[in-house]
Amino acid sequence: MFHISFEIQAECPVTRARAGLLHTGHGDIETPVFMPVGTQATVKGLSQRDLAQDLDVRILLGNTYHLYLRPGHEVIDRLGGLHRFMSWPNAILTDSGGFQVFSLSGIRKITEDGVIFNSHLNGDPHTFTPQSTVDVQLAFGSDILMALDECPEYPVSHEYARQAMRRTVRWARMGFEHFRRRMNAIATRHALFPIVQGSMYSDLRRECCAELVELEADGYAIGGLSVGEPRPLSLEMVEAAEPLLPRDRPRYAMGVGMPDELGEYVARGVDMMDCVLPSRNARNGYLFTSQGRVIIKHTRYKDDPGPLDPACSCYTCRTYSRAYLRHLFQAGEILYASLATRHNLQRYLDIMRRMRHAILLGEFPAYLDSVRTAEAQHGVD
Ligand SMILES: [Zn+2]
Repeated sequence: MFHISFEIQAECPVTRARAGLLHTGHGDIETPVFMPVGTQATVKGLSQRDLAQDLDVRILLGNTYHLYLRPGHEVIDRLGGLHRFMSWPNAILTDSGGFQVFSLSGIRKITEDGVIFNSHLNGDPHTFTPQSTVDVQLAFGSDILMALDECPEYPVSHEYARQAMRRTVRWARMGFEHFRRRMNAIATRHALFPIVQGSMYSDLRRECCAELVELEADGYAIGGLSVGEPRPLSLEMVEAAEPLLPRDRPRYAMGVGMPDELGEYVARGVDMMDCVLPSRNARNGYLFTSQGRVIIKHTRYKDDPGPLDPACSCYTCRTYSRAYLRHLFQAGEILYASLATRHNLQRYLDIMRRMRHAILLGEFPAYLDSVRTAEAQHGVD
């Protein structure tokens, strides 16, 4: 029973890259896709109109942990679900909350049934189980849900990583059983993705994949990346997992990456990515351009009348100068965050569109070469 379908439109003959269409109950999504992060049911600094109309974002990510604690899934459910609550017409993917429980919350206990944690807001105790996170995400009305997983920190021992991976697999089975039961009674379309874990151990990643494919999910996520490991290791973990995942289902690499890394993941068969970097870095004055990074506070931009990125067609670059952006940043003006976030997201989306186009034309290897050359020239950020 498939609720979200995926159609592969082209495959790169040299790398593992694919271009596809992900059909959801809230529209079609062209892949490979980058999903902006809307932690608190908002991408900080941008309106839904900016996202949907100006940036043509087709899918947003929401954080279950945050929205469960505030305003609460029951409130969101009563208000018609997350799409209506935040006036978002396109697709929504929510994580399971597991990652934030492990990274943000206070005292916690991991049991076979789930995870007990204290809210980072007021210390109240809460429990996430494989079943309850499915219920919370269905109350949101998310198009794509994530199964509860345990994301160990880096580094951990092989033994601990194995235990966490085995628990993730057991939780995924419990979550799927519950999800399928709930789906029988729900008319709307949703998909649940299990998450491949295994820390930085290829054998554990492979073992995890072999178990999770038995669930015949609509898509698969690769989690536990970007937790402080060196970049080549993250790519190695994707390489270990990808050949074992079903070719006809989307693969989602969670929490990656820098602009120059996006092509590396796509070349390894990844279809979906998300990352807080474009929006968070924008607010911190760190801007991604086609000519490398711009640290906007630098005095060299004080009198610079040129656009932030001459190759970018976003509203910010079409309208304002680097000097003005620097001024807004220095003055702590709200408009700065909005304009900067808009540009950084546009930069990510442009990269994704260019990659998709290259895959469709059979020119992805040449594209990847040009990106690697440019990276060598600009330096690694
Ligand atoms: Zn721009």
